[in-house]
Amino acid sequence: MVVRMRVNRSKTGKRRSHHALVAASLAVCECGAPRVSHRACAECGKYNGKVVIDVVARAKREARRDKKKQKELRAAGQEKDTTNSKEEAKTT
Ligand SMILES: [Zn+2]
Repeated sequence: MVVRMRVNRSKTGKRRSHHALVAASLAVCECGAPRVSHRACAECGKYNGKVVIDVVARAKREARRDKKKQKELRAAGQEKDTTNSKEEAKTT
């Protein structure tokens, strides 16, 4: 670092004065859940009084996907275990 490149504490502080995190300002949905404004409610799927997201169907879909993913992970883990045992057999 050359002295010419050095930024003084004042400049550093001024730059960092904009780095603070701001909490999201949430509105309250008619169902009572906190909701990001101008977005549909994640709890009831309503926007502006109308249901725009089928929350039940989404929950079912996500449960099904989770189950599938868990199954795949389990299968992959078993494959990995078998390969490890083979490698161990080769090394010994
Ligand atoms: Zn809601």
